[in-house]
Amino acid sequence: MRSFGTTIFAEMSALAARTGSINLGQGFPDTDGPPAMLERAIEAIRAGVNQYPPGPGLPELRQAVADHRMRHYGLAYDPDGEVLVTVGATEAIAASVLALCEPGEEVIAFEPYYDSYAASVALAGARLVAVTLRPEGGRFTFDPAELRAAVSPRTRAVLVNSPHNPTGTVFTRQELEQIAAVCRDHGLVAITDEVYEHLVFDGVEHIPLATLPGMRERTVMISSAGKTFSVTGWKTGWICAPAPLVRAVQTVKQFLTFTAGGPWQLAVAHALRHELAWVAALRESLESKRDRLMEGLTAAGFGVLKPLGTYFVQTDIRPLGHADGMEFTRSLPELAGVVAIPTQVFYDHPERGRHFVRFAFCKKDEVIDEAVTRLKRLSTR
Ligand code: PMP
Ligand code: GLN
Repeated sequence: MRSFGTTIFAEMSALAARTGSINLGQGFPDTDGPPAMLERAIEAIRAGVNQYPPGPGLPELRQAVADHRMRHYGLAYDPDGEVLVTVGATEAIAASVLALCEPGEEVIAFEPYYDSYAASVALAGARLVAVTLRPEGGRFTFDPAELRAAVSPRTRAVLVNSPHNPTGTVFTRQELEQIAAVCRDHGLVAITDEVYEHLVFDGVEHIPLATLPGMRERTVMISSAGKTFSVTGWKTGWICAPAPLVRAVQTVKQFLTFTAGGPWQLAVAHALRHELAWVAALRESLESKRDRLMEGLTAAGFGVLKPLGTYFVQTDIRPLGHADGMEFTRSLPELAGVVAIPTQVFYDHPERGRHFVRFAFCKKDEVIDEAVTRLKRLSTR
């Protein structure tokens, strides 16, 4: 793991703290989740829910997850055997890759990809094969021929993240059909990272890959509470999958962490049942924050790509006379007192993302406004 070093999120958040910059890098909201959910966690601690929960997770949360999947997507999962609670989506992804991929096998992922994918694949001794998402018609998408060409006799799984971090793309039904066809034709497992499932804008619908024909039986569907309920520090996630796949993932999971924190599980179970109106309001507020930041970044001279999901916006720094996002973001605290993320770190082919920089908009309006005021200095220097 030597080549992995420190994650870009840790590096950039430390840079923000050290320089007193506004942190639009690491994606975490600066406001709290639903108050009643927070109270549930406190009550659970006071009520003594403080010892090891069962390995698969507390039944209350497993049932709430299964009900939520049914209500939103019409997907039926048995809470006893087809749902597993994990320490965030991060552990769910790592445990799934470790459980399902043998050394020497290949995992396809769309680049730019969330940084833990490459690390999880490396931990499994497998190889990540990247299919590049490129801007086309204002959104990042892939060439289906490239996806097909990425499959080899060693391919075991496809890791699919939609809504997609860091591009903000929400895969369309047509794109998902293309991915599903590849999985079915080659007998591949799909590992889907759907942590931004509720953060979609402009009336766009999030479609779980597992809802497509022939996919439920080969899909490990992953989500977590962090983004949906603005509790990224709770690290409470889950997988839904057919029982044999869940058993395999649980076998690994029990030796990574054995179980996940109890009080959060009860609070998230409450939230999945009772706080979806709160989430709808969050989505609306994020949509207006997206527009606010996009407008500001455009005025500051960036090229701006409109995200339809997540809380990140991709910018092209070339109109500002810069070419390398890594250099740019490392000097941005000094240039403007703002921190952002160089998108190139999420590529196997960094040159394809050199000129892109990611900004997070899950921040208070006044924080976004102050960041924009500072960034406008870039074009007047
Ligand atoms: N997947 C993606 C695409 C993410 O952006 C993140 C970061 N929140 C995660 C997984 C990790 O989620 P968690 O914090 O629940 O581990
Ligand atoms: N998911 C968050 C992001 O993409 C950060 C997660 C992390 O710090 N590992 O910004």
